[in-house]
Amino acid sequence: MNDALSIAQQLIRCPSVTPLDAGALGVLQKVLKANGFEVHRVTFREPGTANIDNLYARVGDQPPHITFAGHTDVVPPGDEAAWTHGAFSGDVKDGLLYGRGAVDMKGGIACSVAAVLQYLADHGGKPKGSISFLITGDEEDVSVNGTIKLLQWVSSRGERFDHCVLGEPSSQEVLGDCIKIGRRGSQSGTLYVEGRQGHVAYPHRAANPVPDISRLIVALSDEPLDAGSAQFQPSNLEFTSVDVGNSATNVIPGQARAKFNIRFNDHFTQESLRKLIEQRLSAAAGNRIRAHIAWEKSNSNVFLTRPGPFTDLAVAAIAEVTGRKPELSTTGGTSDARFIASYCPVIEFGLVGQTMHQIDERAAVSDLEKLTRIYRGILDRYFG
Ligand SMILES: [Zn+2]
Repeated sequence: MNDALSIAQQLIRCPSVTPLDAGALGVLQKVLKANGFEVHRVTFREPGTANIDNLYARVGDQPPHITFAGHTDVVPPGDEAAWTHGAFSGDVKDGLLYGRGAVDMKGGIACSVAAVLQYLADHGGKPKGSISFLITGDEEDVSVNGTIKLLQWVSSRGERFDHCVLGEPSSQEVLGDCIKIGRRGSQSGTLYVEGRQGHVAYPHRAANPVPDISRLIVALSDEPLDAGSAQFQPSNLEFTSVDVGNSATNVIPGQARAKFNIRFNDHFTQESLRKLIEQRLSAAAGNRIRAHIAWEKSNSNVFLTRPGPFTDLAVAAIAEVTGRKPELSTTGGTSDARFIASYCPVIEFGLVGQTMHQIDERAAVSDLEKLTRIYRGILDRYFG
């Protein structure tokens, strides 16, 4: 029962809503161990966060080393009564596999495991290099006790990765239409403008920060950050809230603040981005407006796996199975690829993401079969 569908069903039947594991990693541990992998279970802790189980399994000790990464945790099911089939049922109906995680991303993990086991069976149980699985239970929430620490843990053992395939649901409309090869960085901050509190009837004795923060918001929003780059859309600064915390209509508030987030491309690093925004702020504020920005800590830097031999072999494997030429994209929200990118080139390729995080999350069984063949095609070409 090592086909993708039955592995996916076993995983879905573990209600592993972050931070719970509910037996999900055990499913993988069992099947990988039985097929010659050295399997490690590692728990990471940090004050203020839940302890999280992770799994690292490897077969082979030679380079090149390709790792399949993923997460077994899922987002909550929402209103379980609204599901056509139980959120953790793993039921198949009309060729569709239902359940939380079917596409994000227990289905993708199951396909990679099935593909690797097939590859090993055809090669006497040994790859020409090394194959590993890097699986966390902490992706959907705060992501502090997961991939980021597991990568450090593996690397502290003296192991290194050459390439990574992360099986997140990258496909947009149909399987094979999109590979993610990078992501914009994300940086949040709060803009503060200091005024002087006072009575609205005596404005000359006060300084109102509301018109001033409005001026600064317009100034920072209007000027483009860049025009995009070869692989990325333009960077974008978006204000998301403005507050004075003032419930009185006859009081001029003493302070105004506005929150914003920037998605930035490879024209910037976090440092150069912050510097540019602060320069623009001080130009807009001049000598009169007292303003400053408090930056939030961010572990989402921009990254890019440049198109080359590794992306080419994934493109070829996808074309062979689906007849499609995938777009190489850098759009969308963050994923664990941002952490992996510091260790080796990483691409994200997996099922169609349309129903992820929704009621009735589901994957076509035929897509599970095709994705398994694509991963197999990647392995054949990688070790070719
Ligand atoms: Zn995911």
